[in-house]
Amino acid sequence: MLIFFSDLDKTLIYSYKHDIGKEKELVEMYQGREVSYISKKTSDLLKKMMGTRKIAENNNVLFVPTTTRTIQQYNRITLPIEKQKFALVCNGGILLEEGNINQVWYKKSLEIIKDSNAEIKKAISILEKDESVNFEIRYIEDLFVFTKSEEPQKTLNNLKESIDQEKVDVFLNGVKVYAVPKKLTKGNAVKRFIDFYKNNIKQDDIKTDDIKAEDIKTVAAGDSLFDISMLESVDQAFAPFELLAEYPHLKNIKTNSDNQLFSEKILESLLE
Ligand SMILES: [Mg+2]
Repeated sequence: MLIFFSDLDKTLIYSYKHDIGKEKELVEMYQGREVSYISKKTSDLLKKMMGTRKIAENNNVLFVPTTTRTIQQYNRITLPIEKQKFALVCNGGILLEEGNINQVWYKKSLEIIKDSNAEIKKAISILEKDESVNFEIRYIEDLFVFTKSEEPQKTLNNLKESIDQEKVDVFLNGVKVYAVPKKLTKGNAVKRFIDFYKNNIKQDDIKTDDIKAEDIKTVAAGDSLFDISMLESVDQAFAPFELLAEYPHLKNIKTNSDNQLFSEKILESLLE
């Protein structure tokens, strides 16, 4: 069987700012506005592969959305397929199981990042004093921090001066500024999930019939810095050509051509 870990934004779905052609479907509304879309072709491919849990089961696929989005941000998305049993949100710090937080997973996540708590608190207090910060400082589920800045580079440099980067990664994504514990990565989450899933195969609540742990193949897709650790933790990975241009050391990665939408490339390859 195949476990498919996929980032969402700019991997399967796209913001209204991104031109994905006219053939598209709405997947996210926010404050009354249409904010994210999926291409019609991606939607059709997703439905073919895992439109319902039954179809996914017949195709031997378990799709695990794997995103830095918070729980609320994740819940705003409605993909054109039946809701997934599992999703990794908050950069993998939280495992949603049938929409609920798996508390064992979450406690373990807090345990794993414990050694970075002091540095995260320090980052918060630096951001509080930063006059370029023009958004609330959000400490997401006691896991990581993000805010926005009028002068992101300046805010980032400010953080870099004082934060121990052995423990906490600080970086930008557009105007967003992040401080994320070094151990809170999608790569770690994917490895933890594979163990979690293999252990659960023995239990009755996951219907897996004849699946053996050694028969599981893992695939991941993602488009950004957040995704690299995940791309490096699976059997087969997908990244868009822009990311590969930026990180040429990434190995064994399938990519799209510049006239092909990344989301379509991924699903077309998986369905081959
Ligand atoms: Mg993304």
